[in-house]
Amino acid sequence: MKTYLGKIHLKWCKNCNVPLLGNKCEVCGSKAEKVKITPPGDPRLGFEYDIKFVNSILEETFGVKNIIGGKIILLNKLPGNEESYEVILDGEVKYIIYFDENEEKWKPKLKLSGAFDLMEKGARKKIIKIKQDVVDILKNKKGCILRPGIIEYTDDINEKDDVIIVDENENVVGVGLAIISSKKIDEISKGKVIKVRSFIGKDNKIFSPKRSYKSLNEAFKVMVEANEGVISTYERNSIGFIRNISQKLNKPVIVAFSGGKDSLTTLILAIKALEKNFDVVFVDTGLEFEETLKNVEEVEKEYGIKITRLKGENFWEKIKEYGIPARDYRWCSDVCKLNPLKTFIEEKYKEDVLSFVGIRKYESFNRAHKKVVYRNTYIKRQINALPIFHWSSLHVWIYLLREKAPYNKLYEKGFDRIGCFICPAMEMGEINKIKKEFKDLWDKWESVLREYAEKHGLGEDWIKKGLWRWKHKIQEEKAS
Ligand SMILES: [Zn+2]
Repeated sequence: MKTYLGKIHLKWCKNCNVPLLGNKCEVCGSKAEKVKITPPGDPRLGFEYDIKFVNSILEETFGVKNIIGGKIILLNKLPGNEESYEVILDGEVKYIIYFDENEEKWKPKLKLSGAFDLMEKGARKKIIKIKQDVVDILKNKKGCILRPGIIEYTDDINEKDDVIIVDENENVVGVGLAIISSKKIDEISKGKVIKVRSFIGKDNKIFSPKRSYKSLNEAFKVMVEANEGVISTYERNSIGFIRNISQKLNKPVIVAFSGGKDSLTTLILAIKALEKNFDVVFVDTGLEFEETLKNVEEVEKEYGIKITRLKGENFWEKIKEYGIPARDYRWCSDVCKLNPLKTFIEEKYKEDVLSFVGIRKYESFNRAHKKVVYRNTYIKRQINALPIFHWSSLHVWIYLLREKAPYNKLYEKGFDRIGCFICPAMEMGEINKIKKEFKDLWDKWESVLREYAEKHGLGEDWIKKGLWRWKHKIQEEKAS
């Protein structure tokens, strides 16, 4: 896959144990070490909720409590159909968590250093002990562990589980995938048992920084300090960009605030650059979370501004006319989101407006091509300019924490994308989270789906497995 994003910026101070954006830690002066992550690579900052969430997955699988605490974690969403994240802490990817759609639950995959931490903290499950001569062979050449090489194993291993591989002294030597279950191992005397995924090298070393903080907030403080210079430079550049383009175009300015972190950052920068000489608008789609509506008020109060609420046509009425919105049938975005803004701009301004938007290139491969100033194709009179196009999610978070900005509380509930509470673009893991955390909202949506399904003869899977998210996929399946 070709990448247009350029370098992934993530680095780490292994001494302070915080992520770095620049080449040096501004707290202790240590040289930044690169963190290898999977592209597009725009990891988000984990909050207490996320730490508890990862801890609960690890506890359930390996029988060990509170593996992560007092440390900063980042979650890097992996491309592909299955919802999965690299869990970054201590300056490396230690675990991968993924949502198993069949079992409807989150599961972990292990990296070597993650397994090392688990054993150190007393893991009791999914462990396999192998003979020393097998360890020596696997150090030189990865492969499979055969039945005769195994000394003992826990009785909880299922086929396709990730397992911790230890030597005779119970030191972690590798991680792998179980080819067969514990029960099957009992029954055989030869054959393949584990496919090794990762194994220690000849130097036997697994390095894991130990520095942790009394609280996550304290770790955040150090992270902000460690990146102060870099983030100030980014701020200065973005403010300069906003001033230059405003002077050059000399048009009325608006900022569309969505309740998300990127538009909040854009708004703060615009206030610093232009004082308050512009309109701020918020489009209420009718599918907003309470938290988002509250955030609009908080932001107004904090910065002493007035945010104009725009409302489109009623989503719940329109659904009767257009049907269920889908990934390949997104009428909702035009009707509920773009049209109100279009009407507002056309009615209020006689000419072009300059609109500052919080789009970032790291958000997705699709967005990597965008120019930083361009005319909106849907709202012709709107010229979009992107002051934080070159910021990563981590830049944004460090900035918002430094500014003590009133960000949307949904971020502290494990949400990364703030928008409509339900959207066909959502992954099953996200929908699962809505079901759990916002049962009322999900129930309302499910009743709409159910009514539609009954009318059109669609089965339970259409609702439960999220097939409603595609319009044509269903019709194709029906036709075949
Ligand atoms: Zn440091």
